[in-house]
Amino acid sequence: MECYDDILTQAFAAMKNAYAPYSKYHVGACVKTKDGTYIQGANIENASYGLSNCAERSAIFAAYSQGYRKQDIVSLAIVSDGKRIGTPCGACRQVLVELLEKDTPIVLSNGKDTLVTTIAELLPMSFDSEDLS
Ligand SMILES: [Zn+2]
Repeated sequence: MECYDDILTQAFAAMKNAYAPYSKYHVGACVKTKDGTYIQGANIENASYGLSNCAERSAIFAAYSQGYRKQDIVSLAIVSDGKRIGTPCGACRQVLVELLEKDTPIVLSNGKDTLVTTIAELLPMSFDSEDLS
């Protein structure tokens, strides 16, 4: 299996920046690009709850904001301090199906267990850009 230690280390470092005073559920994410750049994200909560932003969206929006696109992304890591591996919420899955290649590795970990998956596996039969072309 390919080694994801580098991106997992980056994602766990990002998790330390989580702003989660309400849920106390800390999530970190990292996008690794083909030019060797690591772009971190963390979950950022809000007292109005609905305006909270998940770590994986923070990271991938930052990557796109810096000019990267799906074909530039090698892998995405999402880590949490939960009892079990945290998987992306439904909203994030819809975002990731838009902004990642279908077969880009998504590495999930809670520090004890690690799972490698793809957005195709996480969101089968998705509604996406192909439906509108
Ligand atoms: Zn989410």
